[in-house]
Amino acid sequence: MDFIDLKKQQARIKPQIDAGIKRVLAHGQYILGPEVAALESQLADFGKAKHVMSCASGTDALLLPLMAWGIGPGDAVFCPSFSFAATAEVIALVGAEPVFIDIEPSSYNICPDSLSRAIDHVISEGRLRPRAIIAVDLFGRPADYVRIAEIAANNALYLIADSAQGFGSTLGGNHPLNWAHVATTSFFPAKPLGCYGDGGAILTNDDELSLIMRSLANHGKGRDKYDNVRIGTNSRLDSIQAAILIEKLAIFPDEIAARQRIAARYNAALANHVMRIPAIGNDHVSTWAQYTIEVTDPAAMAQALAAKSIPSARYYPVPIHRQSAYSEYECEGGQLSATDFASQHVISLPMHPYLSESDQDTVLKAVIGAANQQAA
Ligand SMILES: *Cc1c(COP(=O)(O)O)cnc(C)c1O
Repeated sequence: MDFIDLKKQQARIKPQIDAGIKRVLAHGQYILGPEVAALESQLADFGKAKHVMSCASGTDALLLPLMAWGIGPGDAVFCPSFSFAATAEVIALVGAEPVFIDIEPSSYNICPDSLSRAIDHVISEGRLRPRAIIAVDLFGRPADYVRIAEIAANNALYLIADSAQGFGSTLGGNHPLNWAHVATTSFFPAKPLGCYGDGGAILTNDDELSLIMRSLANHGKGRDKYDNVRIGTNSRLDSIQAAILIEKLAIFPDEIAARQRIAARYNAALANHVMRIPAIGNDHVSTWAQYTIEVTDPAAMAQALAAKSIPSARYYPVPIHRQSAYSEYECEGGQLSATDFASQHVISLPMHPYLSESDQDTVLKAVIGAANQQAA
């Protein structure tokens, strides 16, 4: 059993993927070929965005809007610490300071109350200028965009939805971009919508921002690529990866539906056996990048599962604010207790759209057995 099985998905669409790659090899436009524009327009349809720009990674997708807005030294950007390092890394890379916000214990997403307090604190201190918020759709579950967008608007802050794990998630049928200035995703192979290498995309409804980000991703080009009007970088999605993603996007809604069925089955079986099962808002849809529960001792649980050849993973045992590279940055209230608690108790179980019911049952039996042992 694989933690995330990419082979079964590939077997399902192998002829289409082979044909797509073959087409790129035939026309030879490896950079910015027709597949890139086609994918961007399909992603815009899917994500209800006016503009989509593909780029080299989910990290660059976060970096480019910060660069476009001129965020830098003296600026504060608010983000959760319970996330992949890239969320905070891009803030430090542009010379601004990440301010770490605690999570809601039930969703693992940025806590609007902790966020409000942090903004007030930064304003009253006067050392940094609040500029933006990066909310993360952790494990695929959309953040509380209704409240976060209100806080962003009240404080004139930009809002980025880091949907690297949650691209395709919705709240009341709306994508995070409905509330955010920018939504980003990653096509890293293990993400819900992944390619066969690195890649990312940025969604926005802002015409001006879209133009600036396209320039930044192509060495700050102006009229053409030998006219450089700003300091940019090189951040593009390969045509071959776009060709692969076109085929994967075609089955993505079906895969999201399959993930809902598996998560519901996991939830029903585990509800009375572990400390916490993932709760999703009534009209919210998670992409279930991870199916994550809380247990007393996740290390012991991982060992018990491994003994039965069941893979598991722990995201994230050391939150970003406790990483040595980020130790100088501020945490809201001086400590992030919900973040620390989650980091010590979460464990993620095998989850992908092709996980058979018998494999699900094998996982459930082993988890329940190990959980009962921890309770005893
Ligand atoms: C994976 C991930 C990223 C970075 O994506 P890459 O494509 O690996 O650069 C950013 N944020 C979150 C929450 C992620 O999970």
